[in-house]
Amino acid sequence: MLTPYRFSGIISGMTSFCLNGYDPMPRLYVFATAVSLACLGPVHAQDVSPREAFVEANILSIYYHELGHAIIDLMEVPIFGQEEDAADVLSVLLINWLFDEETAVSIAYDAAFGYINDPDGTHEVHYWDIHGPDEQRYYNHVCIFFGANPEERQNLALDLGLPEDRAQWCSVEYAQAEEAWGLIFDEMDEHVEGVPMVFVPADDADRVNRILAAEVANMNTIVKLPEAVTVKVDACGEANAFYDPSDISITFCTEFIAHLEDIYDKTTEN
Ligand SMILES: [Zn+2]
Repeated sequence: MLTPYRFSGIISGMTSFCLNGYDPMPRLYVFATAVSLACLGPVHAQDVSPREAFVEANILSIYYHELGHAIIDLMEVPIFGQEEDAADVLSVLLINWLFDEETAVSIAYDAAFGYINDPDGTHEVHYWDIHGPDEQRYYNHVCIFFGANPEERQNLALDLGLPEDRAQWCSVEYAQAEEAWGLIFDEMDEHVEGVPMVFVPADDADRVNRILAAEVANMNTIVKLPEAVTVKVDACGEANAFYDPSDISITFCTEFIAHLEDIYDKTTEN
């Protein structure tokens, strides 16, 4: 069981990339500079309901995860362990790196619960799945986010039920993650000319279209990929998002929105 959780519902600056309070490692200096140049302030600062904020935060975290698969493929990143874990790690690193503290914490809360696809605990856990069990992905996410700034994130660790036995190692886990993905960002920055990602919207999907269009534009100022990745919103017949190496595309299924809303409703009921 997870501890009770309060949704904060603050994503007023979710499409702005700022590094307030972030002290980048020297390895990430070039990357961090690029991010700072993109810090133009909130693109669409507005009040949204906690439910909307939950959905929007998870659209971001899922996009960052799929972007991880694209980078792994196109940059031929060696993977030691599960690729799905590596993609999750990039997602939480980007949440930590790209936003001011308040916004990053808000997104991290919501994205943590986005991993719990079955809040009622009624489904069988498939340990053979290429993804780790939902609760493990949740704790990995919380641990790395906490480990990035443990002095200021004690309350988050308590709120999200991170046990002390795991918490004591999280700053080390964060440092390893930053080192590993930082090398890839350095490689892209130094050796890749950069082909922009292309966004393809879906009909009747205004919210996800708006969020991902802005996010793809921002990430095009940060990530330099050797080939064009198509990021598309589309109806797939299932609640999913995926990277397809055969046509170098990330698809965010429109059905995912209702699934995220369902997770939010069930989580807040429990
Ligand atoms: Zn994945």
